[in-house]
Amino acid sequence: MQIGSELASMTIVDDVAVVTLNSPPVNAMSTAVRQGMVDALKAAEADPAVKAIVLIGAGRVFSGGADITEFGKPPMSPTLQDVLDTVEASAKPVIAAVHGVAFGGGLELSLTCTHRVAAPDAKLGLPEVKLGLLPGAGGTQRLPRVVGPERALEMIVSGDPVSAKTALQTGLVDEIVEGELKAAAVAFAKRIVAEGRPLVRTRDREDKIAPARADLALFDRFKAANARRFRGFIAPAKCLEAVKAAVELPFDDGIALERKLFMELLRGEQSAAQRYAFFAERLAGKVSDVPDSIQPLPIRKVGVIGAGTMGGGIAMNFLNAGIPVVMVEAKAEALERGRATIRRNYDNTAKKGRLRPEDVETRMGLLDPSLEFEKLADCDLVIEAVFELMSVKKEVFSRLDQIARPGAILASNTSYLDIDEIAAMTSRPESVIGLHFFSPANVMRLLEVVRGHKTDKAVVATAMALAKKIGKVAVLVGVCHGFVGNRMLSARQREASKLILEGAMPWDVDRVMTDFGLPMGPFAMADLAGLDLGWTKERSTSSNVREILCEKGRYGQKTGGGFYDYDADRRATPSPVAEQAIRAFAAKSGVPQRDISDQEILERLVYPMINEGAKILDEGIAQRASDIDVVWINGYGWPVYRGGPMFYADSLGAKAVLERLRAYQVEGGDDFKPAPLLERLAAEGKRFQDL
Ligand code: NAD
Repeated sequence: MQIGSELASMTIVDDVAVVTLNSPPVNAMSTAVRQGMVDALKAAEADPAVKAIVLIGAGRVFSGGADITEFGKPPMSPTLQDVLDTVEASAKPVIAAVHGVAFGGGLELSLTCTHRVAAPDAKLGLPEVKLGLLPGAGGTQRLPRVVGPERALEMIVSGDPVSAKTALQTGLVDEIVEGELKAAAVAFAKRIVAEGRPLVRTRDREDKIAPARADLALFDRFKAANARRFRGFIAPAKCLEAVKAAVELPFDDGIALERKLFMELLRGEQSAAQRYAFFAERLAGKVSDVPDSIQPLPIRKVGVIGAGTMGGGIAMNFLNAGIPVVMVEAKAEALERGRATIRRNYDNTAKKGRLRPEDVETRMGLLDPSLEFEKLADCDLVIEAVFELMSVKKEVFSRLDQIARPGAILASNTSYLDIDEIAAMTSRPESVIGLHFFSPANVMRLLEVVRGHKTDKAVVATAMALAKKIGKVAVLVGVCHGFVGNRMLSARQREASKLILEGAMPWDVDRVMTDFGLPMGPFAMADLAGLDLGWTKERSTSSNVREILCEKGRYGQKTGGGFYDYDADRRATPSPVAEQAIRAFAAKSGVPQRDISDQEILERLVYPMINEGAKILDEGIAQRASDIDVVWINGYGWPVYRGGPMFYADSLGAKAVLERLRAYQVEGGDDFKPAPLLERLAAEGKRFQDL
């Protein structure tokens, strides 16, 4: 017998009703799914032959949670709350059988069940905070009752899932079941019935929260310990408030508070930005003129040229994914240094317990460091990461063209240079592409995929697919100086350098950026990267502050001073020497110094970036405004709760940005000349998102 709909059905196995969610790919609980569940659950409840109910997901997961495309739309009946109420009202044991994932509303659903069993592969989590929200279907009230407030806080505030093993240890699941999940869950249900265990609803459980009532300070301790992680975000504090209510208030009052806080967050700007960013990231993977029917090429072996800062990190991405890498260098010393750095990185990860020692060996075993270029002959993809000099890149590519097998993809990690010019050095420009990794390349998620004018579609498709395989967020960009990210960064940098001559000090500029939510301001970043990047004593002519600092031996953090002074622990303090150098250079250059407001600093740094973004869009360098935002969030630490520079522009309105640029243009000239696209949007009252 089968009752319900295709999306949620009920079958009877002996005296156990099995309610199956069947809404691929992740059993998201859309309105139709919820309706099917309520019908199926009610039928199971009403059938006297049914002694217990098993809730299970068809396909690869239990449930990924609410259908987030329904967020922000008017709620449709039955709500998720109605489904949970139906489960909780059952007089029979209800067992959630979890495999794959139980995320968000999926986990909240399982928390209303009397029992949970999990397959060994299951992951359970409440990721709502990552969308600027909190679990709004009882998760903040029930999870603490099941695992205790400390563990609940950690799960809810981090949004990170836990494994089945951890779930068992914390009491989140009652048992890990091996073998076929449905049969095992039904057997578990029968055992519960046979044993006649008393049914305790989660809402009535006291055992895990009672001890915390004597130690409410735990919430302040958690807050203090996580202050850095929370910086700028609103949702984590609301999560904490809700979990605290689980301990302090009766269940129904806690639920009411959770609902109120959830609605506040849902209507707030941060969650709107974070949900936008979530969809933006998914959209970035789609290339409008490269349909899914174009198959990516197989990448079985990768070559990396250059074992420096970037080459080593790039290689690690592929080793981590189980793909063999040949890493070639010009100098034996550099090759050994590069290999040793990779080893040290893995050893450090292993020391922290995040990698098994045998995995370190497996990964190192996949690496073939070599001084012989010829070893690149059988690679399916070769990524060049040598010095940022066109002459060197050209030489490398013409050599590579002689060696690489026909059809192999030839990629450059250049930060600024023209991919077409590089491609022209080969007999196969259609196989050439830019793969712009960010430093540290084994950590940063962003990958700018630079499409040359002749790059083949299959090569683009391969780069996008490969990025996913190695855990990167790929954004397709076109050829121009600095592509999307660095081109916009240059606009910000230009203004930052001007601002310090006009009277704002580097620490003022940096503070405005960090207050805005970026991890670091432009001058702290310059000190970290090294002011001497691309600088030589011989060619230095004291033509800007940076050169002057280098001439004084102030290269940044590594020399104990740059724009800031650094102590032995690399803690920064404003540098009187740098300040004096800046003021002297301003005087010499005839730039009058004045008081500059924080608002002006913010506008001068960010609005030219937006303006550059508008030009990038007009030129077709980026496919869509949201791609630019993905670049800035994942490559430059733009705060996700502000959605990226183009989303931020939309929140201000094109007209407001345009007016300020025009005002700055009067004094500052064409650096502020508004982009035609910005003018069009302002005139038409449109947003970048509407394009
Ligand atoms: P690096 O100086 O640390 O490393 C370059 C390595 O290439 C050196 O070890 C050098 O010996 C080797 N090399 C030079 N010529 C070679 C040749 N002909 N054959 C083989 N090896 C050769 O430089 P990096 O910081 O790793 O930068 C490499 C590339 O990555 C540059 O194009 C740079 O613009 C780009 N990039 C750098 C960063 C960054 O933050 N460092 C970020 C993104 C992209």
